[in-house]
Amino acid sequence: MSGTFVGMPAFPKAAHEAVHNPTLRANLRHATHTIRAKRARAVAELDDWPALREAGRRIKDHTLRHLDRYLVQLEESVTAAGGTVHWAADADEANRIVADLVKETGESEVVKVKSMATQEIGLNEALEAEGIRAYETDLAELIVQLGKDRPSHILVPAIHRNRGEIRDIFRTEMGAWGRPAPEGLTDTPAELAEAARLHLREKFLRAEVGISGANFMVAETGTLVVVESEGNGRMCLTLPRTLISVVGIEKVVPTWRDLEVFLQTLPRSSTAERMNPYTSMWTGTTDGDGPQTFHLVLLDNGRTDTLADQVGRQALACIRCSACLNVCPVYERAGGHAYGSVYPGPIGAILSPQLRGTASEIDASLPYASSLCGACYEVCPVAIDIPEVLVHLRERVVQGGPAVRQGNKVLLKPAKGHAAERAAMRAARWAFARPGVLGAGQRLVSRTRRLHPRTLPGPGRAWSGTRELPAVPAEPFRDWWQRTHGGKDSSK
Ligand code: SF4
Repeated sequence: MSGTFVGMPAFPKAAHEAVHNPTLRANLRHATHTIRAKRARAVAELDDWPALREAGRRIKDHTLRHLDRYLVQLEESVTAAGGTVHWAADADEANRIVADLVKETGESEVVKVKSMATQEIGLNEALEAEGIRAYETDLAELIVQLGKDRPSHILVPAIHRNRGEIRDIFRTEMGAWGRPAPEGLTDTPAELAEAARLHLREKFLRAEVGISGANFMVAETGTLVVVESEGNGRMCLTLPRTLISVVGIEKVVPTWRDLEVFLQTLPRSSTAERMNPYTSMWTGTTDGDGPQTFHLVLLDNGRTDTLADQVGRQALACIRCSACLNVCPVYERAGGHAYGSVYPGPIGAILSPQLRGTASEIDASLPYASSLCGACYEVCPVAIDIPEVLVHLRERVVQGGPAVRQGNKVLLKPAKGHAAERAAMRAARWAFARPGVLGAGQRLVSRTRRLHPRTLPGPGRAWSGTRELPAVPAEPFRDWWQRTHGGKDSSK
């Protein structure tokens, strides 16, 4: 995934630093509360929201189970419409394909539509290493790029910045990337937007190569779909002569009818709009209209491995609306950078450890970056059971043991706790198979209950230090039942 996040500390350390930044917390609190209230109003307008949500879940579930079939159909449709399809197993392969395609055009700069997939593979950095400059054209991505920053939100990558900070970035950095900010720029939204518009327009008008991702790909016709709010995407998708789209393989939907569901649920869940201001769709190439060369790079990069996990594969259903981020109490306090990935918040906590594996400290810590309150599941427009996947991934982390660093390597250490748990389970199985021994043991524990310690010794001390141990009854349940019911089963 993106090189910009390499070397990040594990979530607890990064989050600890973030919660001590009052500006960050204030920016996040204001932004997430505003978006979440708007989303709730937009969703409440639709009587059939639960049915739409269920339809979205079913479509994604069906598509993921038959992904091989729909991807082949998509490739045939795109090729028939004049496009060229490339398959990339990982980030390196995808970056190499894109860099070679740009070099073939003879160009040394590209304009980009906001795209999570290209951030995931670190495309901008890879192109820079090949002497190709990539210009982000989404306003928030522009702020992140000019500020040499990292995105902290799926939809609003600069959510951690306030208007004053953005004005300062524009004033000091725009000139190095092209047209400088106007003299006397203030922090009013209209002036900031105008500065970005003027800065970007000259790039749109001279760009020969555009790079995008896609929100959806329709298998039956080979149509790609990008939804956005600013119009920059429309410029990038129509003005350049060559268009290269890098898209995760999970973004395919079988038919236009399926697409209809997501075009209703995505805008309401993300920007709280009834429909996206700009919905761009293109199918291959058209003579004399738009890009004359179209390449689709289908990206795996850990998705096939994720698909193999029957619980974890739900994460691939995500339509990147970011509603789960905006309601998450952990995200609101820790901010997006603490997740060490382009995918922050609850979806990042289940997606990154699956795409990258749980061998690193940061990825092993992500499934624990949640209180399991379930708010993310409640708002998810495709009903991904994020708490279920979090618990599932915690199990995987424990079974693999904690990640330990040895020099430059991160290794998995066999978990001591797991061996102890196995021994306890073996002892329980032995006792449950011998009712006489079990009864005697329970009586002994009840009679000696006043001697039991109130805190656990050794590693258990941390657990019992913040919890009350359950009180042992004076009489075991089995003895009480025998005494009060004479051994009869009252259910008969
Ligand atoms: S997991 Fe659900 S709520 Fe979160 S970004 Fe994805 S689709 Fe939206």
